[in-house]
Amino acid sequence: MTRVYNFSAGPAVLPEDVIIQARDEMLDWRGTGMSVMEMTHRGKQFMAIAEQAEADFRELLAIPENYKVLFLQGGATSQFAMVPMNLLQGKKQADYICTGHWSKKAIAEGRRFCEINLAASSEDTGFQHVPPHQDWKLDPEAAYVHYTPNETIAGVEFHWIPDSGEVPLVADMSSTLLSRPLDVSRFGVIYAGAQKNIGCAGLTVVIVRNDLIGRPQAGTPAMFDYQIHADHNSMYNTPPTYAWYVAGLVFSWLKRKGGLTAIAKINQAKANTLYSFIDSNDFYYNPVERAFRSRMNVPFILSEQQLDEIFLEQAKKAGLTNLKGHRSVGGMRASIYNAMSQEGVETLVEFMKEFERTRA
Ligand SMILES: *Cc1c(COP(=O)(O)O)cnc(C)c1O
Repeated sequence: MTRVYNFSAGPAVLPEDVIIQARDEMLDWRGTGMSVMEMTHRGKQFMAIAEQAEADFRELLAIPENYKVLFLQGGATSQFAMVPMNLLQGKKQADYICTGHWSKKAIAEGRRFCEINLAASSEDTGFQHVPPHQDWKLDPEAAYVHYTPNETIAGVEFHWIPDSGEVPLVADMSSTLLSRPLDVSRFGVIYAGAQKNIGCAGLTVVIVRNDLIGRPQAGTPAMFDYQIHADHNSMYNTPPTYAWYVAGLVFSWLKRKGGLTAIAKINQAKANTLYSFIDSNDFYYNPVERAFRSRMNVPFILSEQQLDEIFLEQAKKAGLTNLKGHRSVGGMRASIYNAMSQEGVETLVEFMKEFERTRA
């Protein structure tokens, strides 16, 4: 068996310890004689798995008691609709910050429900930075302010939390949640698809402040109502049990690693290794302004684009996979989520050096 260094943006690499544990527990979860996949979600075994996962998640992020944690389906993409359905609460407009592909998707979906006030956008400069906070045109009457703290495709990240005053702040943290400590109390809603930094695909985690729940717009389907999921502990219908279990294994792994302060240091070191190499030569280039570079997704382009395919081919042969950039931006992208090791990043840098030496 060989495991590669997988730089996929999502579904992404999982900690090997987690996969090994899942394997060891696959046929017989702790003496029950069955796999977690085969358990009823109403039974005490799965209930225990679910509760432990939530407890560990809350501990990792120090989530205050006045927030619910929901384990849902439908991806971050469903949250693009669920947020306005639940948070408009009679208002007609919401503020959105547009910093890339995923912001645009959230905005396009939000338009189905309300007037969008584009409070700031970096689209005219090709999404290479975050517009300065003092230039944002926030509307104090907005139902909420939505932003994307880490744009997975262009590799642009906020390293600060915007101040939205009394207006609830909503964040799509799909590709950054759990990568560093976070002051959850600054937010109204945080959501994330699991397949980047939390676990496997099929699970969406939502953290929502209690006072924002319970006033969905008329006609909201039950499955899109935060209140209904909160009242049923995310078991209004059959939840994605196996994905929930895998997320629980990841939370427990993160705790063993020393929690978010420890993982943040490792993530910073990995990002430094890769960016400082990219900056140190003329063959590779990252177009994002330094202050806004993502610690999770690192796009880079080769100065000779005709070498892209050869680069990818040889990287794959060297056991470095999924480095192709998103089709909308081209070039390369290395996603270096929590489960990617420093060793993996160093192996990539060594490969890049060698490729540059022999090809450039
Ligand atoms: C991957 C991603 C999404 C889409 O998530 P789905 O779970 O596929 O709906 C949305 N936002 C961001 C920031 C992402 O990285």
